[in-house]
Amino acid sequence: MTLDVAWSERWVRRSAEALAAARDELTELDRQIGDGDHGENMHRGFRAVVAKLDDGAERTQVGQVLKVVATTLMSSVGGASGPLYGTAFLRAGKVTERDALDAHGVVVMLEAALEGITTRGKATTGEKTMVDAWQPAVDAATRAAQDGADPVAVLRAAAEAADAGATSTIPLVATKGRASYLGPRSAGHEDPGARSTALLLGAALAAALT
Ligand code: ADP
Ligand code: MG
Ligand code: MG
Repeated sequence: MTLDVAWSERWVRRSAEALAAARDELTELDRQIGDGDHGENMHRGFRAVVAKLDDGAERTQVGQVLKVVATTLMSSVGGASGPLYGTAFLRAGKVTERDALDAHGVVVMLEAALEGITTRGKATTGEKTMVDAWQPAVDAATRAAQDGADPVAVLRAAAEAADAGATSTIPLVATKGRASYLGPRSAGHEDPGARSTALLLGAALAAALT
């Protein structure tokens, strides 16, 4: 399987499907420690991205698809997650101006996305945010690529680490974002943005397996 432009378009569509299916779950998570809109934000955002992808324009580089995701999320998602994911996909799109990604290319893309999120949101790991899913994903992808994994195996490493990273946010006390207003009462709930990150990277893997 080559991680080409068609893969990146399947990634977007799979993401939209996964977020539609997880809408209530993400909303419930955000109701526990935030304002209960994360499911709706992500669902609305990716529905808009899919509509934009269907505009008939020809895209020949992965980065062109990721930039559509970026600009659409920035303009259609309010709240913290819109600009954070928007910046992530914008940075990712800038380092994927090519027709396909090799194993190193996947790592570079994920690193760029994480860098966008930390530049914008100033969070580090352990603060109970989406960074707690992205950082282990980047670390695992880096290790896999160093061990000679193929691009799909690199994506798998990233997706699995993001999933575990999202789960790892449950006991954490939030110190960034809306959940930080709760202080110690934020512990005991999974961070919704970390969960949506795991869904997005899971969709990237699923898109590579079909
Ligand atoms: P809002 O909190 O504005 O309603 P969302 O509910 O859509 O926005 O998104 C909340 C998610 O955004 C959180 O679960 C968290 O993962 C992420 N988030 C919030 N602030 C930051 C930050 N400074 N850095 C990284 N991620 C953040
Ligand atoms: Mg919210
Ligand atoms: Mg909100």
